[in-house]
Amino acid sequence: MRYSAAEIRNALNNNELCVYYQPMCVTMTGQLKSAEALVRWIRPDGTIIPPDSFIPEAEGSDLIMDIDWYVTEQVCRTLEKQNMMPQYPISVNFSRKHIHEKNFAERLASMMDKYDLPHPLLEIEITESAMVDEEALLLDWIISIRKAGFTVAIDDFGSGLSSLQFIKDIPADVLKIDKSLLSHNCEDEKEKIVLESIFTFAHRLHMKTVAEGVETKEQLAFLRSCDCNKIQGYLFAKPMPEKEYLELCQTYRGTDEFNDILEVQSTSSSLNLLIEAVLYRYPLIIFTNLTRNTYYAMAHQDFTSTNCPSTGVFDELIEHGVNSMHPEDRELFEATFNRENLIKEYKSGTKMIRLTTRQLGDDGIYRKVETVDCFVSSDYSTDIIAITLCENLAD
Ligand code: C2E
Ligand code: CA
Ligand code: CA
Repeated sequence: MRYSAAEIRNALNNNELCVYYQPMCVTMTGQLKSAEALVRWIRPDGTIIPPDSFIPEAEGSDLIMDIDWYVTEQVCRTLEKQNMMPQYPISVNFSRKHIHEKNFAERLASMMDKYDLPHPLLEIEITESAMVDEEALLLDWIISIRKAGFTVAIDDFGSGLSSLQFIKDIPADVLKIDKSLLSHNCEDEKEKIVLESIFTFAHRLHMKTVAEGVETKEQLAFLRSCDCNKIQGYLFAKPMPEKEYLELCQTYRGTDEFNDILEVQSTSSSLNLLIEAVLYRYPLIIFTNLTRNTYYAMAHQDFTSTNCPSTGVFDELIEHGVNSMHPEDRELFEATFNRENLIKEYKSGTKMIRLTTRQLGDDGIYRKVETVDCFVSSDYSTDIIAITLCENLAD
Protein backbone atom coordinates (compact mmCIF):
# COMPACT_ATOMS: atom_id res chain seq x y z
CA MET A 1 0.00 0.00 0.00
CA ARG A 2 1.34 3.42 -0.97
CA TYR A 3 0.29 6.62 0.74
CA SER A 4 0.29 10.12 -0.69
CA ALA A 5 2.34 12.94 0.79
CA ALA A 6 -0.91 14.65 1.80
CA GLU A 7 -2.07 11.58 3.76
CA ILE A 8 1.28 11.32 5.54
CA ARG A 9 1.30 15.05 6.33
CA ASN A 10 -2.16 14.59 7.81
CA ALA A 11 -0.93 11.72 9.95
CA LEU A 12 1.94 13.88 11.22
CA ASN A 13 -0.36 16.78 12.04
CA ASN A 14 -2.82 14.46 13.82
CA ASN A 15 -0.09 12.93 15.97
CA GLU A 16 -0.57 9.52 14.41
CA LEU A 17 3.19 9.08 14.03
CA CYS A 18 4.62 7.31 16.98
CA VAL A 19 8.18 6.40 17.97
CA TYR A 20 9.17 2.82 18.80
CA TYR A 21 12.47 1.93 20.40
CA GLN A 22 14.70 -1.01 19.60
CA PRO A 23 17.41 -1.79 22.18
CA MET A 24 21.06 -2.16 21.23
CA CYS A 25 23.07 -4.46 23.49
CA VAL A 26 26.73 -5.03 24.30
CA THR A 27 27.74 -7.99 22.11
CA MET A 28 29.85 -9.67 24.78
CA THR A 29 27.39 -9.42 27.68
CA GLY A 30 23.93 -8.78 26.25
CA GLN A 31 23.54 -5.74 28.46
CA LEU A 32 21.33 -2.89 27.31
CA LYS A 33 23.47 -0.05 26.01
CA SER A 34 21.32 2.25 23.87
CA ALA A 35 18.33 2.22 21.51
CA GLU A 36 17.29 3.26 18.04
CA ALA A 37 14.17 5.34 17.48
CA LEU A 38 12.01 3.91 14.67
CA VAL A 39 8.89 5.68 13.52
CA ARG A 40 5.50 3.94 13.11
CA TRP A 41 2.23 5.26 11.79
CA ILE A 42 -0.58 4.12 14.03
CA ARG A 43 -3.95 4.64 12.35
CA PRO A 44 -6.95 5.61 14.49
CA ASP A 45 -8.24 2.02 14.08
CA GLY A 46 -5.00 0.70 15.64
CA THR A 47 -3.31 -0.63 12.48
CA ILE A 48 0.42 -0.11 12.54
CA ILE A 49 2.00 1.01 9.28
CA PRO A 50 5.74 0.33 9.07
CA PRO A 51 8.10 3.13 7.98
CA ASP A 52 9.01 1.40 4.73
CA SER A 53 5.42 2.06 3.60
CA PHE A 54 5.58 5.84 3.98
CA ILE A 55 9.18 7.03 4.53
CA PRO A 56 10.13 6.60 0.83
CA GLU A 57 7.18 8.80 -0.21
CA ALA A 58 8.03 11.36 2.48
CA GLU A 59 11.62 11.39 1.23
CA GLY A 60 10.31 12.71 -2.08
CA SER A 61 9.65 16.08 -0.46
CA ASP A 62 10.61 18.13 2.57
CA LEU A 63 7.99 16.21 4.54
CA ILE A 64 10.75 13.85 5.66
CA MET A 65 12.53 16.74 7.36
CA ASP A 66 9.46 17.50 9.44
CA ILE A 67 9.03 13.81 10.33
CA ASP A 68 12.66 13.48 11.45
CA TRP A 69 12.45 16.59 13.62
CA TYR A 70 9.17 15.38 15.07
CA VAL A 71 10.79 12.03 15.93
CA THR A 72 13.77 13.84 17.49
CA GLU A 73 11.48 15.88 19.71
CA GLN A 74 9.65 12.70 20.82
CA VAL A 75 13.04 11.16 21.61
CA CYS A 76 13.91 14.18 23.77
CA ARG A 77 10.67 13.64 25.68
CA THR A 78 11.51 9.97 26.18
CA LEU A 79 15.01 10.84 27.40
CA GLU A 80 13.52 13.41 29.74
CA LYS A 81 11.25 10.74 31.25
CA GLN A 82 14.39 8.71 32.00
CA ASN A 83 15.59 11.55 34.17
CA MET A 84 15.33 9.57 37.37
CA MET A 85 16.65 6.29 35.94
CA PRO A 86 19.70 5.21 33.97
CA GLN A 87 19.72 7.24 30.76
CA TYR A 88 20.69 5.24 27.71
CA PRO A 89 21.59 7.11 24.50
CA ILE A 90 19.08 7.01 21.64
CA SER A 91 19.86 7.05 17.92
CA VAL A 92 17.65 8.90 15.47
CA ASN A 93 17.54 8.32 11.70
CA PHE A 94 18.01 11.41 9.59
CA SER A 95 17.36 11.52 5.87
CA ARG A 96 20.20 12.72 3.69
CA LYS A 97 18.17 15.83 2.91
CA HIS A 98 19.26 17.26 6.24
CA ILE A 99 22.81 17.71 5.04
CA HIS A 100 21.49 20.78 3.18
CA GLU A 101 19.75 22.13 6.25
CA LYS A 102 21.32 25.33 7.53
CA ASN A 103 22.24 25.33 11.23
CA PHE A 104 21.31 21.67 11.64
CA ALA A 105 23.65 21.11 14.59
CA GLU A 106 22.46 24.30 16.30
CA ARG A 107 18.86 23.18 15.95
CA LEU A 108 19.68 19.79 17.47
CA ALA A 109 21.56 21.45 20.30
CA SER A 110 18.79 23.89 21.13
CA MET A 111 16.22 21.09 21.14
CA MET A 112 18.30 19.00 23.56
CA ASP A 113 19.03 22.08 25.68
CA LYS A 114 15.32 22.87 25.91
CA TYR A 115 14.89 19.52 27.67
CA ASP A 116 18.12 19.96 29.61
CA LEU A 117 19.64 16.82 28.11
CA PRO A 118 23.37 16.11 27.71
CA HIS A 119 24.23 16.03 24.00
CA PRO A 120 26.03 12.64 24.06
CA LEU A 121 22.61 11.05 24.73
CA LEU A 122 21.66 11.65 21.09
CA GLU A 123 23.18 9.80 18.16
CA ILE A 124 22.53 10.74 14.54
CA GLU A 125 22.21 7.91 12.01
CA ILE A 126 22.76 8.71 8.37
CA THR A 127 22.67 6.02 5.74
CA GLU A 128 25.65 5.10 3.72
CA SER A 129 23.71 5.70 0.49
CA ALA A 130 23.49 9.34 1.49
CA MET A 131 27.15 9.58 0.72
CA VAL A 132 27.38 8.82 -2.93
CA ASP A 133 27.88 12.43 -3.88
CA GLU A 134 28.22 15.66 -1.99
CA GLU A 135 31.06 14.22 0.04
CA ALA A 136 32.45 17.57 1.10
CA LEU A 137 29.05 18.78 2.28
CA LEU A 138 28.43 15.61 4.24
CA LEU A 139 31.85 15.81 5.86
CA ASP A 140 31.22 19.36 7.09
CA TRP A 141 27.77 18.34 8.27
CA ILE A 142 29.18 15.46 10.34
CA ILE A 143 31.98 17.58 11.74
CA SER A 144 29.52 20.26 12.89
CA ILE A 145 27.28 17.68 14.59
CA ARG A 146 30.18 16.09 16.43
CA LYS A 147 31.53 19.49 17.42
CA ALA A 148 28.20 20.12 19.12
CA GLY A 149 28.76 16.98 21.21
CA PHE A 150 26.51 14.47 19.42
CA THR A 151 27.70 11.17 18.03
CA VAL A 152 27.28 10.12 14.40
CA ALA A 153 26.66 6.63 13.05
CA ILE A 154 26.96 5.50 9.44
CA ASP A 155 23.86 3.34 8.91
CA ASP A 156 23.32 0.38 6.55
CA PHE A 157 27.02 -0.06 5.83
CA GLY A 158 27.46 -2.75 3.20
CA SER A 159 23.95 -2.48 1.77
CA GLY A 160 24.93 -0.43 -1.25
CA LEU A 161 28.06 0.50 -3.04
CA SER A 162 30.30 0.91 -0.04
CA SER A 163 33.38 2.92 -0.65
CA LEU A 164 36.15 2.13 1.79
CA GLN A 165 37.99 5.14 0.47
CA PHE A 166 35.13 7.32 1.62
CA ILE A 167 34.55 5.64 4.99
CA LYS A 168 38.22 6.20 5.72
CA ASP A 169 37.67 9.97 5.44
CA ILE A 170 34.39 10.15 7.33
CA PRO A 171 34.86 11.25 10.92
CA ALA A 172 31.94 9.17 12.23
CA ASP A 173 31.89 7.51 15.65
CA VAL A 174 29.96 4.38 14.76
CA LEU A 175 29.64 2.01 11.81
CA LYS A 176 26.35 0.09 11.63
CA ILE A 177 26.76 -3.02 9.56
CA ASP A 178 23.74 -3.81 7.44
CA LYS A 179 21.75 -6.96 8.12
CA SER A 180 22.08 -8.02 4.47
CA LEU A 181 25.72 -8.91 5.16
CA LEU A 182 24.78 -11.49 7.81
CA SER A 183 23.46 -14.82 6.63
CA HIS A 184 21.29 -16.93 8.90
CA ASN A 185 24.15 -18.77 10.59
CA CYS A 186 27.25 -16.91 9.37
CA GLU A 187 28.82 -20.13 8.16
CA ASP A 188 29.98 -19.18 4.69
CA GLU A 189 33.76 -18.81 4.67
CA LYS A 190 33.82 -15.87 2.26
CA GLU A 191 31.09 -14.03 4.13
CA LYS A 192 33.09 -14.47 7.33
CA ILE A 193 36.23 -13.07 5.74
CA VAL A 194 34.39 -10.00 4.46
CA LEU A 195 32.76 -9.33 7.81
CA GLU A 196 35.95 -9.89 9.79
CA SER A 197 37.77 -7.39 7.63
CA ILE A 198 35.00 -4.82 8.01
CA PHE A 199 35.24 -5.09 11.80
CA THR A 200 39.01 -4.92 11.68
CA PHE A 201 39.13 -1.79 9.56
CA ALA A 202 36.35 -0.10 11.56
CA HIS A 203 38.18 -0.72 14.82
CA ARG A 204 41.48 0.37 13.35
CA LEU A 205 39.79 3.61 12.27
CA HIS A 206 38.61 3.92 15.89
CA MET A 207 34.95 3.51 15.01
CA LYS A 208 32.59 1.55 17.24
CA THR A 209 30.66 -1.18 15.45
CA VAL A 210 27.03 -2.25 15.57
CA ALA A 211 25.60 -5.27 13.76
CA GLU A 212 21.94 -4.95 12.81
CA GLY A 213 19.32 -7.61 12.28
CA VAL A 214 20.89 -10.22 14.57
CA GLU A 215 18.38 -13.04 14.82
CA THR A 216 20.29 -16.21 15.66
CA LYS A 217 22.74 -17.49 18.29
CA GLU A 218 25.11 -18.50 15.50
CA GLN A 219 25.25 -14.92 14.26
CA LEU A 220 25.86 -13.73 17.82
CA ALA A 221 28.71 -16.20 18.36
CA PHE A 222 30.37 -15.10 15.16
CA LEU A 223 29.95 -11.39 15.95
CA ARG A 224 31.56 -11.97 19.35
CA SER A 225 34.57 -13.49 17.67
CA CYS A 226 34.84 -10.31 15.55
CA ASP A 227 34.78 -8.03 18.62
CA CYS A 228 31.66 -6.29 17.32
CA ASN A 229 30.76 -3.72 20.00
CA LYS A 230 26.95 -3.72 19.93
CA ILE A 231 24.19 -5.72 18.37
CA GLN A 232 20.63 -4.88 17.49
CA GLY A 233 18.12 -7.47 16.41
CA TYR A 234 15.18 -9.69 17.19
CA LEU A 235 17.44 -12.10 19.12
CA PHE A 236 17.52 -9.53 21.91
CA ALA A 237 14.47 -7.36 21.31
CA LYS A 238 12.10 -6.08 18.65
CA PRO A 239 11.23 -2.38 18.37
CA MET A 240 8.77 -1.61 21.17
CA PRO A 241 6.49 1.25 22.28
CA GLU A 242 7.96 3.90 24.58
CA LYS A 243 6.19 2.61 27.69
CA GLU A 244 7.65 -0.85 27.29
CA TYR A 245 11.10 0.55 26.53
CA LEU A 246 11.09 2.74 29.64
CA GLU A 247 10.12 -0.27 31.76
CA LEU A 248 13.00 -2.20 30.26
CA CYS A 249 15.46 0.63 31.04
CA GLN A 250 14.30 0.70 34.62
CA THR A 251 14.57 -3.01 35.28
CA TYR A 252 17.36 -4.06 32.98
CA ARG A 253 20.36 -5.68 34.58
CA GLY A 254 21.45 -7.97 31.73
CA THR A 255 20.39 -11.58 31.64
CA ASP A 256 22.38 -14.21 33.54
CA GLU A 257 22.92 -16.11 30.35
CA PHE A 258 25.37 -13.49 29.14
CA ASN A 259 26.93 -12.52 32.43
CA ASP A 260 30.00 -14.72 32.54
CA ILE A 261 32.49 -12.69 30.57
CA LEU A 262 34.99 -15.56 30.61
CA GLU A 263 32.63 -17.79 28.69
CA VAL A 264 31.85 -15.37 25.93
CA GLN A 265 34.92 -13.34 25.25
CA SER A 266 37.07 -13.68 22.18
CA THR A 267 40.83 -14.14 22.30
CA SER A 268 41.50 -10.49 21.65
CA SER A 269 39.23 -9.33 24.47
CA SER A 270 40.97 -11.79 26.84
CA LEU A 271 44.22 -10.24 25.74
CA ASN A 272 42.90 -6.78 26.54
CA LEU A 273 42.06 -7.91 30.06
CA LEU A 274 45.46 -9.50 30.39
CA ILE A 275 47.18 -6.31 29.24
CA GLU A 276 45.22 -4.38 31.86
CA ALA A 277 46.53 -6.72 34.58
CA VAL A 278 50.07 -6.72 33.23
CA LEU A 279 50.04 -2.91 33.18
CA TYR A 280 49.22 -2.90 36.89
CA ARG A 281 52.21 -5.10 37.49
CA TYR A 282 54.54 -3.30 35.07
CA PRO A 283 53.75 0.40 34.80
CA LEU A 284 55.86 0.77 31.68
CA ILE A 285 55.82 -1.73 28.82
CA ILE A 286 57.80 -1.12 25.64
CA PHE A 287 57.40 -3.02 22.37
CA THR A 288 60.57 -2.71 20.32
CA ASN A 289 61.31 -3.68 16.75
CA LEU A 290 65.08 -4.08 17.02
CA THR A 291 65.46 -4.64 13.29
CA ARG A 292 63.75 -1.37 12.42
CA ASN A 293 64.87 0.66 15.43
CA THR A 294 61.32 1.61 16.44
CA TYR A 295 59.35 1.28 19.67
CA TYR A 296 55.88 1.70 21.08
CA ALA A 297 55.44 2.34 24.81
CA MET A 298 52.43 1.74 27.04
CA ALA A 299 52.91 3.69 30.25
CA HIS A 300 50.94 3.77 33.44
CA GLN A 301 50.72 7.05 35.33
CA ASP A 302 52.64 5.73 38.32
CA PHE A 303 55.85 4.96 36.53
CA THR A 304 58.89 6.73 37.99
CA SER A 305 59.59 8.79 34.93
CA THR A 306 56.68 9.56 32.63
CA ASN A 307 58.26 11.85 30.07
CA CYS A 308 59.25 9.42 27.30
CA PRO A 309 57.27 9.75 24.05
CA SER A 310 54.86 6.87 23.40
CA THR A 311 56.47 5.95 20.10
CA GLY A 312 59.69 6.79 18.29
CA VAL A 313 63.23 5.70 17.52
CA PHE A 314 64.52 3.02 19.89
CA ASP A 315 68.12 4.31 19.99
CA GLU A 316 66.80 7.67 21.14
CA LEU A 317 64.73 6.00 23.83
CA ILE A 318 67.83 4.28 25.20
CA GLU A 319 69.67 7.61 25.13
CA HIS A 320 66.78 9.14 27.05
CA GLY A 321 66.96 6.20 29.50
CA VAL A 322 70.69 6.59 30.00
CA ASN A 323 70.30 10.30 30.78
CA SER A 324 67.69 9.66 33.44
CA MET A 325 69.83 6.92 35.06
CA HIS A 326 71.95 7.27 38.20
CA PRO A 327 75.49 8.17 36.95
CA GLU A 328 76.94 4.93 38.39
CA ASP A 329 74.40 2.79 36.47
CA ARG A 330 74.65 4.49 33.09
CA GLU A 331 77.42 2.44 31.59
CA LEU A 332 75.92 -0.92 32.51
CA PHE A 333 72.45 0.12 31.32
CA GLU A 334 73.78 1.33 27.97
CA ALA A 335 75.93 -1.77 27.48
CA THR A 336 73.00 -4.07 28.23
CA PHE A 337 70.19 -2.43 26.32
CA ASN A 338 71.82 -0.88 23.29
CA ARG A 339 70.37 -2.31 20.12
CA GLU A 340 73.51 -4.00 18.92
CA ASN A 341 73.89 -5.92 22.17
CA LEU A 342 70.24 -6.93 22.26
CA ILE A 343 70.43 -8.30 18.72
CA LYS A 344 73.61 -10.20 19.64
CA GLU A 345 71.93 -11.70 22.72
CA TYR A 346 68.87 -12.68 20.68
CA LYS A 347 71.04 -14.40 18.05
CA SER A 348 72.91 -16.34 20.71
CA GLY A 349 69.60 -17.75 21.97
CA THR A 350 68.99 -15.57 25.04
CA LYS A 351 65.25 -15.41 25.86
CA MET A 352 65.28 -12.79 28.57
CA ILE A 353 67.57 -10.08 30.01
CA ARG A 354 67.05 -8.62 33.45
CA LEU A 355 68.73 -5.57 35.05
CA THR A 356 68.12 -3.41 38.10
CA THR A 357 69.18 0.25 37.95
CA ARG A 358 68.42 3.50 39.73
CA GLN A 359 66.37 5.92 37.68
CA LEU A 360 65.50 9.56 38.20
CA GLY A 361 61.79 10.11 38.80
CA ASP A 362 59.67 13.11 37.83
CA ASP A 363 60.05 14.25 41.45
CA GLY A 364 63.87 14.42 41.19
CA ILE A 365 64.44 11.32 43.36
CA TYR A 366 66.32 8.19 42.21
CA ARG A 367 64.35 4.94 42.49
CA LYS A 368 65.21 1.34 41.80
CA VAL A 369 63.73 0.09 38.56
CA GLU A 370 63.86 -3.44 37.27
CA THR A 371 63.97 -3.74 33.49
CA VAL A 372 63.24 -7.11 31.89
CA ASP A 373 63.60 -7.59 28.14
CA CYS A 374 61.89 -10.61 26.58
CA PHE A 375 62.44 -11.61 22.97
CA VAL A 376 59.28 -12.67 21.17
CA SER A 377 58.57 -13.80 17.65
CA SER A 378 55.79 -12.64 15.36
CA ASP A 379 53.86 -14.72 12.83
CA TYR A 380 53.91 -11.86 10.38
CA SER A 381 57.55 -10.90 10.19
CA THR A 382 61.13 -12.02 10.73
CA ASP A 383 62.02 -8.74 12.47
CA ILE A 384 63.50 -9.13 15.94
CA ILE A 385 60.95 -7.99 18.49
CA ALA A 386 61.57 -7.38 22.19
CA ILE A 387 59.09 -6.56 24.91
CA THR A 388 60.43 -4.61 27.85
CA LEU A 389 58.69 -4.77 31.21
CA CYS A 390 59.71 -2.05 33.67
CA GLU A 391 58.81 -2.12 37.31
CA ASN A 392 59.37 0.34 40.18
CA LEU A 393 61.03 -1.54 43.05
CA ALA A 394 60.62 -0.63 46.71
CA ASP A 395 63.65 1.31 48.02
P1 C2E B 1 16.95 1.00 9.63
O1 C2E B 1 17.43 2.32 10.12
O2 C2E B 1 17.98 0.11 9.00
O3 C2E B 1 16.30 0.31 10.88
C1 C2E B 1 16.43 -1.03 11.19
C2 C2E B 1 15.26 -1.81 10.67
O4 C2E B 1 15.54 -3.21 10.84
C3 C2E B 1 13.99 -1.54 11.46
O5 C2E B 1 12.90 -1.68 10.55
C4 C2E B 1 13.96 -2.71 12.44
O6 C2E B 1 12.69 -3.01 12.90
C5 C2E B 1 14.52 -3.81 11.57
N1 C2E B 1 15.08 -4.88 12.37
C6 C2E B 1 15.67 -4.79 13.57
N2 C2E B 1 16.11 -5.97 14.01
C7 C2E B 1 15.78 -6.86 13.05
C8 C2E B 1 15.99 -8.28 12.93
O7 C2E B 1 16.55 -8.96 13.80
N3 C2E B 1 15.53 -8.87 11.79
C9 C2E B 1 14.93 -8.16 10.80
N4 C2E B 1 14.51 -8.82 9.73
N5 C2E B 1 14.73 -6.81 10.88
C10 C2E B 1 15.16 -6.18 12.00
P2 C2E B 1 11.78 -0.58 10.53
O8 C2E B 1 11.46 -0.11 11.89
O9 C2E B 1 10.70 -1.14 9.68
O10 C2E B 1 12.48 0.62 9.78
C11 C2E B 1 12.79 0.53 8.44
C12 C2E B 1 13.59 1.73 7.98
O11 C2E B 1 12.79 2.92 8.00
C13 C2E B 1 14.74 2.05 8.89
O12 C2E B 1 15.78 1.18 8.60
C14 C2E B 1 15.02 3.49 8.52
O13 C2E B 1 15.79 3.55 7.34
C15 C2E B 1 13.65 4.02 8.19
N6 C2E B 1 13.17 4.83 9.34
C16 C2E B 1 12.56 4.42 10.46
N7 C2E B 1 12.28 5.49 11.27
C17 C2E B 1 12.74 6.59 10.63
C18 C2E B 1 12.77 8.01 10.95
O14 C2E B 1 12.34 8.46 12.00
N8 C2E B 1 13.35 8.84 10.03
C19 C2E B 1 13.88 8.37 8.85
N9 C2E B 1 14.42 9.25 8.03
N10 C2E B 1 13.88 7.06 8.55
C20 C2E B 1 13.31 6.17 9.41
CA1 CA C 1 18.91 3.24 11.31
CA1 CA D 1 20.15 0.19 9.27
